[in-house]
Amino acid sequence: MSEFVDISSVLSGQYTGKTVQVRGWLDNMRSSGGIHFFMVRDGTGLIQCTMKKGKVDDTKFEEAKNLTQESSLELTGTVYEDKRAPGGYEIRVENINVVNLAEADYPIAKKFHGPEFLLDHRHLWIRSPKMQTILRLRSKFLEAAREWFQNNGFTEFHSPTLITAACEGGSTLFSVKYFEQEAYLTQSWQLYAEAAIASLGKIYTVAPSFRAEKSRTRRHLTEYWHLEAEAPWCDLDCIMMIQESLFSHVFSRLAEKAAKELEMLGRPPQELLRMSPPFQRVRYDEVVSILEKKGVKFEYGNDLGWVEEKQLTEEFDKPFFVTHFPKGIKAFYHKPDPSNPNVTLSADLLAPEGYGEITGGGQRIHDLGELLKRIEEENLNPKDYEWYIDLRRYGSVPHSGFGLGVERTVAWICKLEHIRDAIAFPRLINRVYP
Ligand code: ATP
Ligand code: MG
Repeated sequence: MSEFVDISSVLSGQYTGKTVQVRGWLDNMRSSGGIHFFMVRDGTGLIQCTMKKGKVDDTKFEEAKNLTQESSLELTGTVYEDKRAPGGYEIRVENINVVNLAEADYPIAKKFHGPEFLLDHRHLWIRSPKMQTILRLRSKFLEAAREWFQNNGFTEFHSPTLITAACEGGSTLFSVKYFEQEAYLTQSWQLYAEAAIASLGKIYTVAPSFRAEKSRTRRHLTEYWHLEAEAPWCDLDCIMMIQESLFSHVFSRLAEKAAKELEMLGRPPQELLRMSPPFQRVRYDEVVSILEKKGVKFEYGNDLGWVEEKQLTEEFDKPFFVTHFPKGIKAFYHKPDPSNPNVTLSADLLAPEGYGEITGGGQRIHDLGELLKRIEEENLNPKDYEWYIDLRRYGSVPHSGFGLGVERTVAWICKLEHIRDAIAFPRLINRVYP
């Protein structure tokens, strides 16, 4: 056991009146009237530490004057409840040990910096209060989602990152030289998940997906984290209900465990709870007429883009499903609707407030002949999909799944303007550094 305690536990009041040791980074400092005020951060919280002349060795007091922002420190002191201190507690310092005196020119000054500068200094910017809050909320979001999957009998399964066959269309594939052969970075676990359900039943994953997105938008990364699930014996309705139950759990867990973070981000927990399922189901056809009524130019058969989704989602105050997309705009494995084979048994979940698509999914084709027909219609080479086609030969069952963009969902929950702030080190069309 370390002799150091977490700042969060000091702020919870459990050490009041006691002598503790904490360690962390100097967030900022000021001095007045023979007292140094240090704000110290350790990843669990931020606390005021005061050092009074005469209470520590004179040389230590003098040396402390030269401490710089982001220096790493170990402090010993007594905990006092103090209403004037941010957080309500302070540590009155009796001893200090400087582990690393930070260089004086910390690049991120307390002044305005443009977005490109902050992206270039992302390795330091992730220490900022806003980034800390978002990254912590992201972690709690995934923790809650995993908890739901575990409580509901899903097994975590991992698929390869290096693959040879596209599942979401060739235009966004990143190719990789794989010895003498060409391979790609995966866009989704989709095809492999369909193989694994015959082994494990209901499964899920949280893994990076890669898309060579050529367009610059506020909602596309080239590398993003994909939370995906696949379930045998499950139809379109079943996969929508699974998502409703998942979101319901995630919203209540976040409201309970991340209330402080949500408040800081301008998303009060009650607002999330109000958006709990059931989520409305709107057919693609109906979307076309809603857009028409709003005067948005949109042709039946096109995919919903950023502009249309922004307009559409302003009409809703909760997430909602758009279902039954035309065949031509969905990947080949989506099952055509038996009652109208021009549309698919598909469903995307759209977030309100102008955010748009956060999950995409639906029922997959399980019939061999139907799959071969769709592969041919899409001009794909059946040879590339030999093993995937095999799955329809040996114990095929109706099945469905979905993929959720972690950063899309976090960006919406946190009300972010740009998806890049929902991940620590964003990969964008023009950025792979730092
Ligand atoms: P879009 O039309 O917005 O590009 P998509 O239809 O290509 O999305 P899917 O292939 O259905 O998306 O992927 C499943 C989910 O992964 C999406 O609902 C979205 O949340 C997320 N996603 C897809 N592409 C990206 C990306 N480039 N960056 C971040 N998240 C993405
Ligand atoms: Mg896309």
